[in-house]
Amino acid sequence: MNPQFSQFMLPEALVRGLEKAGFETPTPVQAQVIPLAQDGLDLLVSAATGSGKTAAFLLPIMQRLLSVRAPRSATRALILVPTRELARQIYIHFMRLASLTRLTAAVIIGGERHDRQLAALRRNPEILVATPGRLLESIQSGAADLRDLEVLVLDEADRMLDLGFAEDVLAIIGHTNPARQSLLFSATLHHRGLAAITDQLLRDPRVLVINPVREGHPDIAHQVILSDDTEHKQAQLLWLLQNEPAEKVLVFTNTRERAIALGPLLVGQGQRSVVLHGELDQRERNRVMGLVHGGQVRILIATDVAARGLDIPGVQLVVNFELARSGDDYLHRTGRTGRAGEKGLAIALVGPKEWNLMESIERYLGLEFQARAIPGLKAAFSGPGKRKGPRKSASKSRAAPAADKPRVKERERDRKAIGKRRQPTTTGEAGLAPLRKKQ
Ligand code: AMP
Repeated sequence: MNPQFSQFMLPEALVRGLEKAGFETPTPVQAQVIPLAQDGLDLLVSAATGSGKTAAFLLPIMQRLLSVRAPRSATRALILVPTRELARQIYIHFMRLASLTRLTAAVIIGGERHDRQLAALRRNPEILVATPGRLLESIQSGAADLRDLEVLVLDEADRMLDLGFAEDVLAIIGHTNPARQSLLFSATLHHRGLAAITDQLLRDPRVLVINPVREGHPDIAHQVILSDDTEHKQAQLLWLLQNEPAEKVLVFTNTRERAIALGPLLVGQGQRSVVLHGELDQRERNRVMGLVHGGQVRILIATDVAARGLDIPGVQLVVNFELARSGDDYLHRTGRTGRAGEKGLAIALVGPKEWNLMESIERYLGLEFQARAIPGLKAAFSGPGKRKGPRKSASKSRAAPAADKPRVKERERDRKAIGKRRQPTTTGEAGLAPLRKKQ
């Protein structure tokens, strides 16, 4: 039988909050985490972006805070996150679910006015959602007090470590009530630095691997389009934006410079786009995300760091203008589409230098990218060691696509190792074929 929210015996105000949010049935992570968290256990959870993990920790926390009143307590629950955007999204999630309760929360993050956050802390909200640096400052200045803490959540712990927050996180744990319950969420449990945190944080934890990052997302189609160079990629991206019906599109680049360069280029072609990168100040980031959420722009061009933790409803297409540097990053990027059961499409534009990376991502994730070719914009490049001519001939072949020829070179080693490849078809939108058949 499918799990139901009713089996968690949540207070009426939360049941109605769920209804208002439109959540009808629990996601797998919610079905598994909520009852164990309600039992007060420490949890170590591997759950991918978009799995519904926010409500999985918010609901038991809120239930606990509602059922036991503690007006004299300082902060009762802390949710520690790697990025400001994620903090804000969790706060919004909280506001939706808690709208019919008396519970309050505050966001303590860098880049925003200190005096406002101090004022929010003085009102002594039950829940804090915070990034490590600013929270630690607030603890050290005496503005935040975690000695009564009942629940500590570390969300996206692997990202937290990637961003260099390990020391701050350990320091914060040291300031909390040792009797607290702790829940740690991470896309992967194989992160090198994780043990140092879990040792300090968790007592006899239950380990839940709900959505192993390598399992991917069943509702996302993964496609690859071969490209010759950046200029070629730009033409292909434009074609996709003009021809794919996606409500919202997320375009990933590997560098800030590339993201900044793409913005005006797309706007110049009539594509409503904005750029989000790590160097924007908080006001700019808020403005950019406001435009995306408000629907004034359809396309968000982002770097990995800037996009961490983003939850943008309606992203039906993710384009990797440059391929993600690792399989985990690839899944983080593509997990922005196909959220909460919707269908999503992820397209990677892969140049000659990215071929090997593409293969290793495929192997690592056990994914089968479908090869796709855009009519009139087919690459001269068609696999390692094979080029149909000098790079500048690519534009010629773009204008007048060559007749069908084998696109993907088969190498003896590859045939042995990973099975037979099939050539991509040239029939355009419908022209999909697996790059290779897995053994
Ligand atoms: P999260 O992984 O918590 O960021 O959630 C991903 C998306 O799924 C968010 O847009 C949530 O609003 C949505 N969501 C979470 N839980 C549910 C649910 N039980 N039913 C439908 N949508 C959900």
